[in-house]
Amino acid sequence: MRSQIDMHTHSIASDGTFTPAKVAQKVQEAGLKAWALTDHDNVNGIAEAAMASDELGLEFVPGIEISAEFPRPGWMHVLGYFVDYEDAEFLKALEDLQESRRDRNPRIIAKLNELGLAITMEEVQEEAGGPGAQVGRPHFAAVMVAKGLVSSTQEAFDNYLAKGKPAYAEKRRLSAKESVELILSAGGIPVLAHPFSLMKDDGEPLAQVLKELEGYGLMGVEAHYPLHDPEFTQRLLDLAQELDLIVTGGSDFHGATKPEIQLGSGREDNLVLEYGLLDGLKLKRPQ
Ligand code: AMP
Ligand code: FE
Ligand code: FE
Ligand code: ZN
Repeated sequence: MRSQIDMHTHSIASDGTFTPAKVAQKVQEAGLKAWALTDHDNVNGIAEAAMASDELGLEFVPGIEISAEFPRPGWMHVLGYFVDYEDAEFLKALEDLQESRRDRNPRIIAKLNELGLAITMEEVQEEAGGPGAQVGRPHFAAVMVAKGLVSSTQEAFDNYLAKGKPAYAEKRRLSAKESVELILSAGGIPVLAHPFSLMKDDGEPLAQVLKELEGYGLMGVEAHYPLHDPEFTQRLLDLAQELDLIVTGGSDFHGATKPEIQLGSGREDNLVLEYGLLDGLKLKRPQ
């Protein structure tokens, strides 16, 4: 069997349901050779993931996934690989992003309460892992499901939490340019995550968005992703070649909050992530 990898995963440090060490164990059980932990807006799980990977003989890449401003329907996330997760300025910038979440979350609670849904910030904080844990909208959704206020996570987003829905609250975000530059400043390789999420309207053509991001320093695009159909994946591979971007791929594993997604193999085995993708990434590392 050829070696396979997974370059997009989440742990309890953001909105995944397994500890970083547990994700490492699952990576090993899935028979993968290398992986990256890419929690939203923080690197708090990286040290544990690196240590566990070391013990298990897995190759590990420290990563992050930054939520950038995106003025149209949809969402833009920028992955960063090989970031220096101890860099003081990087950590300071990430702390500011935590602060903007702490500022936003009570406003979501207030909107849900106004809509007649009985849910407290304490319940959501507990769902996220307790005091100090990073809270994301999937944690609100999980509490809403547990309390029977909605029947599924997707219903929570579609009816309340998604952009444009009645309980949506904005948080301060980095612009696309700032997101790419933050990753570069931490010695990382910026890669556009799951481009399907930019395609929710017929706005700017994808090639144009990629060119703009490349102008800021973007180096790659996540072409292989469980929600990309074969035609879209091929389009991304062609664009990557045309623009001289590297190609990566990942499952976006979150554990129990996205139970249909498996490490390394995506949804119903619709992903194959060859080790060669990681070779391409390594070639972009600053010398
Ligand atoms: P947050 O970091 O709190 O803004 O939450 C972002 C996360 O919520 C994303 O990573 C997705 O996992 C999830 N999410 C955002 N929008 C949607 C949506 N429309 N449907 C389902 N999940 C979504
Ligand atoms: Fe997530
Ligand atoms: Fe994402
Ligand atoms: Zn993700």
